[in-house]
Amino acid sequence: MALVVQKYGGSSLATPEHVRRVARRVARAHEAGHDLVVVASAMGDTTDDLLALLGRVSRRPPAREVDMLLATGEQASVALLAAALDELGCPAASFTGWQAGILTDGVHRKARIQRVDAGRIRAALARGQVAVVAGFQGVTSEGEVTTLGRGGSDTTAVALAAALGADACEIYSDVDGVYTADPRVVPEARRLEVVSYEEMMELASLGAQVLQFRAVELAAAHGVTILALSTFTEGPGTRITGVEALEANPSVRGVAHDRNVTKIVVLGVPDRPGIAYRLFAALGEHHINVDMIIQSASRQGINDIAFTVARDDAERALEVAREAAAEIGAERVVEDSGVGKVSAVGAGMASRPGVAATMFGALAAAGINIEMISTSEIKISCLVREERLEDAVRAVHRAFRLDAQAPDNAGARRRALDTPAPGS
Ligand code: ADP
Ligand code: ASP
Ligand code: MG
Repeated sequence: MALVVQKYGGSSLATPEHVRRVARRVARAHEAGHDLVVVASAMGDTTDDLLALLGRVSRRPPAREVDMLLATGEQASVALLAAALDELGCPAASFTGWQAGILTDGVHRKARIQRVDAGRIRAALARGQVAVVAGFQGVTSEGEVTTLGRGGSDTTAVALAAALGADACEIYSDVDGVYTADPRVVPEARRLEVVSYEEMMELASLGAQVLQFRAVELAAAHGVTILALSTFTEGPGTRITGVEALEANPSVRGVAHDRNVTKIVVLGVPDRPGIAYRLFAALGEHHINVDMIIQSASRQGINDIAFTVARDDAERALEVAREAAAEIGAERVVEDSGVGKVSAVGAGMASRPGVAATMFGALAAAGINIEMISTSEIKISCLVREERLEDAVRAVHRAFRLDAQAPDNAGARRRALDTPAPGS
């Protein structure tokens, strides 16, 4: 008998009909004789709706209260799913994060799981029940409710799979796997059979929200293989695992894009040693993650420094940069949120020259201006105007022939078979 952890995301639980459908799927797996732990996200857009609601009563809600409110979304889901299972005659019990023993640090809204005390979950399984666990939430040693960052139910699933020594960790969403680019933006994108932890972490951190970054990081640390599958269709999905260097490793495995980017420019900065240090040290002290950085050439002892941050950090970053600018004698600070980031990712990139040229060439041919660039061993990112972001993703995807790599055709055919035609 296998122990399987399944996670269903918000779009898989958007309506009561969706909940009943997921329940039927879970009940089938239970009937097949598996021990099942099911992690559920909040229904549909509930988390966004709750955040909007909070925005109506508070401009800067305390992070603790944000977590108290957001945690209710997942609690509603698990109760509904457990009741729907009961209705089907499938024994089930729902658990909040704290009931499930998900213990975290105290960093509200971005808490990290420190330990899982899975005693109650094991007891439910021993009674023959499906354990339905609220994703995205945990509790601190002081009993404070925390959440794990957007998309955090994926991380709950991986943490439980690791703690319970599960035989499988299946993450169900509205796509049937990890694609070479977001299929909503690039219709020709291909499903990948296997993606390494390293590549998936890079894709996730660069905006591919199909899996949360922390979930992949945790899976890599504990050797948990993740299977990304569709709630709505059957199919082999994508395996995310610790693959040894694949032989036919393409230079670029996928393209990711991210709209959650704001550019901040500090203008008229005196060109002296220590200035960049003072600016970025101030940002670091405020826990603001800086991504891309560019410093213009000096003109008469003055230059400009531009950097990017996540959009949710932009307001605070702007305040901190303005204070630092006054201190270092810079002229002024401006913000630009009309940007987006396109990235090409692949572990095979390091050993192949010309990848950057191919990417820049594709953007040039599409008439898309590059505002900033950053690179690592396995990725190249370019900042472009947001209104050209989707064109940029398609151009880069085409330039690396990602729609046409082996075993592309098999993948495309399978997709055609198991995805109902739009409108059918
Ligand atoms: P869930 O609500 O189930 O957690 P998400 O919305 O978080 O699901 O993730 C699934 C979505 O991720 C898909 O609908 C798809 O648009 C998007 N996505 C972005 N990049 C990719 C990619 N490379 N492969 C597959 N899906 C992707
Ligand atoms: N409901 C949370 C969110 O929308 C967690 C998740 O879906 O994984 O981010
Ligand atoms: Mg998600």
